[in-house]
Amino acid sequence: MTPTLPLEHHTPMVQQYLRLKAEYPDTLLLYRMGDFYELFFDDAVKAARLLDLTLTSRGESGGQRVPMAGIPYHALENYLARLLKLGESAAICEQIGDPAKSKGPVERKVVRVVTPGTATDEALLEERRDNLLLAVAPAGTGFGLAHLELSCARFAVQQVENEAALAAELERLDPAEILVPEDWDLPACLAERSGITCRPPWHFDPAGSRRLLLAQFKTRDLSGFGCEGLELAVAAAGALLQYVQETQRSALPHLTGLQVESGADTIGLDAASRRNLELDRHPSGKREFTLLGVLDATVTAAGGRLLKRWLHRPLRDRAAIEARLDAVETLIETGRYETLREALRRTGDIERAASRIALGTARPRDLALIRQTLETLPDLRGLLADSDTARLRHLRAELADLPEIQALLERALVAEPPALIRDGGVIAPGYDAELDELRRLSQHGDDWLLELERRERERSGIASLKLRYNKVHGYYLEIPRTQSERVPADYVRRQTLKNVERFITPELKAFEDKVLSAREKALALEKALYERLLQTLAPQVPAIQARARALAELDVLANLAERAVACDWRRPQLTDTPGIRIEAGRHPVVERQVDNFVPNDLELNPQRRLHIVTGPNMGGKSTYMRQNALIVLMAHLGSFVPAERAVIGPVDRIFTRIGASDDLASGRSTFMVEMTETATILHNATEHSLVLLDEIGRGTSTFDGLSLAWAVAERLLGRNRALTLFATHYFELTALTEQLEGAVNVHLEAAEYDGHIVFLHSVREGPASQSYGLQVAALAGVPQDVIERARRKLVELENRRDNTETPPPQLDLFTRPAGAWLDEQLQRLDPDGLTPRQALQLLYEWKERLEQHAGARS
Ligand code: ADP
Repeated sequence: MTPTLPLEHHTPMVQQYLRLKAEYPDTLLLYRMGDFYELFFDDAVKAARLLDLTLTSRGESGGQRVPMAGIPYHALENYLARLLKLGESAAICEQIGDPAKSKGPVERKVVRVVTPGTATDEALLEERRDNLLLAVAPAGTGFGLAHLELSCARFAVQQVENEAALAAELERLDPAEILVPEDWDLPACLAERSGITCRPPWHFDPAGSRRLLLAQFKTRDLSGFGCEGLELAVAAAGALLQYVQETQRSALPHLTGLQVESGADTIGLDAASRRNLELDRHPSGKREFTLLGVLDATVTAAGGRLLKRWLHRPLRDRAAIEARLDAVETLIETGRYETLREALRRTGDIERAASRIALGTARPRDLALIRQTLETLPDLRGLLADSDTARLRHLRAELADLPEIQALLERALVAEPPALIRDGGVIAPGYDAELDELRRLSQHGDDWLLELERRERERSGIASLKLRYNKVHGYYLEIPRTQSERVPADYVRRQTLKNVERFITPELKAFEDKVLSAREKALALEKALYERLLQTLAPQVPAIQARARALAELDVLANLAERAVACDWRRPQLTDTPGIRIEAGRHPVVERQVDNFVPNDLELNPQRRLHIVTGPNMGGKSTYMRQNALIVLMAHLGSFVPAERAVIGPVDRIFTRIGASDDLASGRSTFMVEMTETATILHNATEHSLVLLDEIGRGTSTFDGLSLAWAVAERLLGRNRALTLFATHYFELTALTEQLEGAVNVHLEAAEYDGHIVFLHSVREGPASQSYGLQVAALAGVPQDVIERARRKLVELENRRDNTETPPPQLDLFTRPAGAWLDEQLQRLDPDGLTPRQALQLLYEWKERLEQHAGARS
């Protein structure tokens, strides 16, 4: 589909197109033609598929059919938003020449390149989601990362040690677009993502990157940002900056620095744990089933985005957490959170609006939004006036007025400006004398024209004479053809239609020139004034964004207060004493879905490090384990928690190995995924880590699984010394507590009533008395005769096991000589404990096994 012939064989328009396209080989080129943006050749085919456009063709060029697909110009934003969602970029090419004056195709130019990670237009962004651009610089096993939220000027770098850490960051940041060196063979966690943009490898050169950053930040070195020694991170930041400069084609005055993020400041959560805990995504796609769904009732979009960032970066610095908790508590005690939220509802997303000022793309309504938001600041400060909490006092100070900006916007902008500056009507009367004069002229023109119409009617005696206007002919006098003999001599005929004739007069022509030029001049002046207004405001962008950040934080804190009251949460206590004690804890999400949620306690400490959690399927094991992790996490983001009391010692990381999902995309089986996650935990968990393990060893034979589960538990207890909740259906594991110090059994209680199982959902000390597998199966609708048969089989198996006191010996049988196995069976056997019939049955069994064994070996 790509044209193969040399340029000169094509029509002039296709030549122009191909020249422009050559500069954007990997980007869809949207080529403006009249009322459409057209795509040609391969771009047309791709866009037709992605956007469901009709694929047509535009004749032939160079002997080849030219495939074409088009988007109406007024629907551009819509289509762009869809393309960006799919991870595609687009170069917008406009007509810049005057069609009337050009020979051949009108001059065209790419005026902007829109990419998923650099979009800043309101219509292209999701309100409550950060739109991040990430650059990854690989070296050895480590990676330098830089990410930027262009619409808020949030620019941060970090270095991570390995691929698992990279995967965790991808899960946390969820970038819309990722820049990578094009000569890099991508690791699995990147290869599976959309929005990958390949860049020349030399853009990731540390020295070049450093120079670029210094020039952007206008500083002499980067140490002020804490970047010393972070060569890889700097390399990534440089590559990112270069890309943004290229795509934005404008200065980026609001990018004045960057932050270094370090894993040590936050509770570590690997990629799997972020998913397992269903922080902000649920397999069903339903937001209300996630923690964020319950936690987020923020009233502003920026607040929603901030809360999500807090959720993904639970802090470890106790002072910082306590500061947030103090603020939440004060807002609850004073009951101020509701009025604050009311006031916050009147504010707008000025964080993003201000960035658009810096980029020169702000629309009139962005400015109106900033004006309206600044007006609410005194109210908000009033509501925080008597707060004695450090964080609220700080936020109050951050919400200081910006009187000059406010006054400027009051003066410059009409009360309700239109969406676009294009048709004028944005700048307020009284702001600029020249504009007022031009407007008066064109406005006055209207009166004058009415007067002229009246006069001409009188002069000609034609009562039905009308003054009209159209774009092609300008002003004219329209007269019914039946009356045309009566027109005065100075009328000049312009057009004759079926029933009417149209005339102009010299006086009308002269006036028209004056009025129209006044109108044009007014519009041009208005646009210039608007540009100038944006330039005047640009240096104030950091000040506006500081207010935006304070507003977002206030929204999050007021939200946490509201949630705490609405959901009956309590303030957690953070302490230096290792361990986690939770009284009457609840699962914040599950408790909203069931009628009578049963609260449960947890007592993890160095003496009770490992809990073996048993109980029937559906008994509530997963819920219990997750709720404890979520409570710990909520506490560290500064939220109250669903528990009567929670006392939480230092926690460095939360690991989870929950549920089984085949990672089919990368060709790993359930068991492989499980073991990879387990390996990560065993290598990294410390005595301050909270580890949740659910059903380790399921995907293999019973004895493999049991042995692995046992060894993993031993290792966590002895070596890692991690605070661990270990749910298992291997009842044998409950014996661990007798052999190892620090392990305890707890179980989810259930009772059998009239042959049916009743889940009590309460956690009790000690191992579960039975597994209730058959009862659960019955509950699930397995036919009664199958259940009955299983019940008989179970009795048979249990008898057999009691008698031999050994599990069915597949493992030994197939790995050791049969004689050794038989020896062992005999040694374990207590002949006096057997009835003659049991002895005979054993004899049959052994013989049968040995025969099977012989069969398996031959
Ligand atoms: P398990 O992991 O033991 O199979 P789950 O934790 O998945 O069990 O819980 C199964 C169901 O039991 C949950 O979906 C929920 O409806 C209910 N449940 C769990 N814990 C409780 C509780 N503490 N109180 C009330 N219902 C609960």
